[in-house]
Amino acid sequence: MQSRLDREFSRYQEQYEARALEVLRSGWYVLGKQDEAFEREFADYIGTKYCAGVASGLDALTLAFRVLGVGAGDEVIVQGNTYIASVMGITINGATPVFVEPDEYYMIDADRIEEKITDRTRAVLVVHLYGCPANMDKICAVCNRHHLKLVEDCAQSHGAKFKGRNTGSFGDIGCFSFYPSKNLGAFGDAGAVTTNDPELDRMIRVYRNYGSEKRYHNMVVGMNSRLDEMQAGLLRVKLSHLDAINRERSTLADAYDRGIVNPRVIKPLVPPDVTPIYHQYVIRVPEGRDELKDYLDRNGITTIIHYLIPPHLSEAYVDLGMSRGDLPITERYADTVLSLPMYCGMTDEEQQRIINAINEWDT
Ligand SMILES: *Cc1c(COP(=O)(O)O)cnc(C)c1O
Repeated sequence: MQSRLDREFSRYQEQYEARALEVLRSGWYVLGKQDEAFEREFADYIGTKYCAGVASGLDALTLAFRVLGVGAGDEVIVQGNTYIASVMGITINGATPVFVEPDEYYMIDADRIEEKITDRTRAVLVVHLYGCPANMDKICAVCNRHHLKLVEDCAQSHGAKFKGRNTGSFGDIGCFSFYPSKNLGAFGDAGAVTTNDPELDRMIRVYRNYGSEKRYHNMVVGMNSRLDEMQAGLLRVKLSHLDAINRERSTLADAYDRGIVNPRVIKPLVPPDVTPIYHQYVIRVPEGRDELKDYLDRNGITTIIHYLIPPHLSEAYVDLGMSRGDLPITERYADTVLSLPMYCGMTDEEQQRIINAINEWDT
């Protein structure tokens, strides 16, 4: 099985059930006391002054570029190998994504950002993919040098640190998803935006609520992207266990690192200065990735490809006019990556079975 969210739930079941009852009995279900408390606790955890709850990770990205004024005619630099939602956050606002190839850690290659900057470039969207922070020293320096806005896609990096500092606290805005499978996952859709800028925080709050700050008065055409009290309340419970959850995933990653010895498999590298949180444990199989996936499937081990079709080759983005060969590293990763099962509550025996199966493959 790929994921066993039930294992993590049952560990803290009583706390979740008590909080759920509290919310049900409160008589207040959207943007209330739980949301306020969660925003405060999450801002403190990430290390920003502000946090605003929204309805999803895609909404967080969409609203981030909206309040930064990035739209039609603007270009946003983003890595080629990301989840398509990162790119949609840009294009929903009418801006154009400009793709940069990833480095050997699967993060945006910070040394190749500058060559993509034009006089229309307005922002960089850095994605801390798989839970591994990108090189924020280099990326912040490029953004400062060229006066670009910096947005962080932290949908996979809750609690991941670069030089001891949390992702989501480096950029103008940090965007989080709390989709159930994320390390800090809710029990439905949810998201948040972090920032140190009071005006950006204020405008996120305006846009998430029909463009209104004061009832009956609508300043702009906003959205309905509010965080509900049930998700906020349950997220507060999970946030109190997030460090333990992340530690457990790191232990699982260590065991994969030590256990997998099949020479056909490339294990993930961890760059210096980072504390990853292993949202995914991603191996690369230069020859025979699909065969390994099928073989594991036959052995009852479900793996996932993050991501099979890179955004620039997606049907949704034919208008960009890009084709195979335009981003060779991104495409090579799409053709060779494979995410192994990674979930809290995985037993040693379960993991050993996965490791043995991989080591026994074609040797
Ligand atoms: C999950 C994810 C998103 C989107 O979050 P949703 O809450 O599903 O909208 C965006 N970017 C990345 C990198 C993600 O993994």
